Amino acid sequence: MVFVNNRDFLFTPVMDYTIPAEKVAHVQIGNNAEHALLVLTKTGYSAIPVLDAKYHLKGLIGIGMITDSILGLERIEYEQLADLKVNTIMQTDLPTIKTTDRFQKALDLLINHTFLCVIEEDGKFAGIMTRREVLKEFKKYIYTSF
Ligand code: AMP
Repeated sequence: MVFVNNRDFLFTPVMDYTIPAEKVAHVQIGNNAEHALLVLTKTGYSAIPVLDAKYHLKGLIGIGMITDSILGLERIEYEQLADLKVNTIMQTDLPTIKTTDRFQKALDLLINHTFLCVIEEDGKFAGIMTRREVLKEFKKYIYTSF
């Protein structure tokens, strides 16, 4: 990333900072909670995108949502995992940014979210933008500019 002057980065395209879809772990909307828990545990990610068969973003699924959905009165009911579909427990009210958005919008949202899903105009999943990647770019910029 090359910044011409110190405010230019606010207007750089979101895709410059996006981890592309093919490198992002995800689950399909029809998968069960057991599969999602397996993917989350194996990857070590706290939440991952949920996509439909056409690769459109439908929501996010995280470990907390899964355990919460199988919480019984006295115990965690693991036996329910296989019957629970991801789409019944996923988070659907998530902030997203479009591939055409500028970095400034993403920066505002990343204050409260560790990562953002990036979508194309038609809702197709394009990747994610993480707070970590943005901080790494900031660090590079600061160390090379001052
Ligand atoms: P990080 O900033 O790398 O610690 O990532 C923060 C969060 O972003 C992770 O806990 C995941 O929820 C999500 N994330 C980061 N990288 C990926 C990836 N390659 N695939 C899926 N989710 C990811």
